[in-house]
Amino acid sequence: MADSSSPFERALTRLDAALELSHIHTEALNRLKFPKSLIEVSIPVRMDDGGLQIFKGYRVHHDDSRGPCKGGIRYHPEVEIEEVKALAFWMTCKTAVVGVPFGGAKGGICVDPKELSATELERLSRGFIQRVADFIGPETDVPAPDVYTNAMVMGWMMDEYSKIVRQRTPAVITGKPIPLGGSEGREEATGAGAYYALRTLAEDEGWDPSQMTIAVQGFGNAARPFAKMAASDGYKVVAVSDSRGGIFREDGFDVESLAKRKLESRKLEAIYCDGGVCEMVDAKNVTNEELLELDVDILVPAALGDVINEDNASKIRAKHIIELANGPIDPAADRILHDAGIEVIPDILVNAGGVTVSYFEWVQNRAGYYWTRERVLKELEEIMVRETRAVRALRKDHQISTRTAAYVHALNRIGDALAAQGTKD
Ligand code: GLU
Repeated sequence: MADSSSPFERALTRLDAALELSHIHTEALNRLKFPKSLIEVSIPVRMDDGGLQIFKGYRVHHDDSRGPCKGGIRYHPEVEIEEVKALAFWMTCKTAVVGVPFGGAKGGICVDPKELSATELERLSRGFIQRVADFIGPETDVPAPDVYTNAMVMGWMMDEYSKIVRQRTPAVITGKPIPLGGSEGREEATGAGAYYALRTLAEDEGWDPSQMTIAVQGFGNAARPFAKMAASDGYKVVAVSDSRGGIFREDGFDVESLAKRKLESRKLEAIYCDGGVCEMVDAKNVTNEELLELDVDILVPAALGDVINEDNASKIRAKHIIELANGPIDPAADRILHDAGIEVIPDILVNAGGVTVSYFEWVQNRAGYYWTRERVLKELEEIMVRETRAVRALRKDHQISTRTAAYVHALNRIGDALAAQGTKD
């Protein structure tokens, strides 16, 4: 039966199982069921052909009890407000899981960025900032990249904000190009963070990487560095994909050279246009749906949300799932996977490396002092290892899923912040 609840309502159901194990006060918890505030904007953009197109954009502040709201901006034709609310809620939980002093936010523009030229994208990005400038700021809400946005887009946005407030303000946005105040290590941070979580899991479980196969759905900013690091550790990455389809090879891919070819194929005039992985190597072609059902040890959905749902959950053959994307498994599928004994390492833990290094970038911008790549990755590793162990200890102590354990961990920290404010409301 079709589920008529909204993505935000479905996201909130994840709190139910965590509630009784967390010490958060019920009144504090109730606050999380409503986003703090949100804004919808229209962005008129003069296109290269002289015509005017109007795009819809959103920014949601979910909660700021632990610090300024924080979260990415995505460009996608399916962006809609209920999904942005769900993504903002996950950011509140994610920043709490890793203990960085931020709340949760998210933004998006309903657009297919592949259909826009680089100059149109720049006008759209600057136009969005003109509309939301009063809603963001280094102490209130700090955006970052997400699906189909990147360092170049963040650079335009930071520049536009700085012009509006007449003050260079690098700390208003993270994930910027390094010459504009970006951080070393930010580009690969999400993938690297997930790899540190995987390594911690492998150490605790006594896995031999050379005996483990991995299928990755996606080959974008998060998936590429993750797959590269896992492969250099000895894991066999047997499948990867992009929006046009996937490739499978039983003895694994040379991920390093595949990633290089993907980047080299990028066309300069349209920044999101690159070659498909399917044309890059001689391998068996699989669809994105078939990739999810491969018989592998570890499945890594690293693209969009809800790809594992009630319809295909019972066909998943992987023993472990690492949620590199935000929300790739819907709550109905969660139950099916849990009953099948498949451990899911949840998004709010495993993809938190991006926002963790965003925090380092914000700290560097405010201090005006920049760290080495070694320092960034070392501090990221410390956090990911510590929080992965903390979450798995809760899982073991209470005999709960790793997802519920991550929510308990997050709710405890959010509850502590709200209690420390001296009010329950
Ligand atoms: N968009 C990323 C995420 O979903 C990064 C957010 C950030 O760095 O603020 O975690």
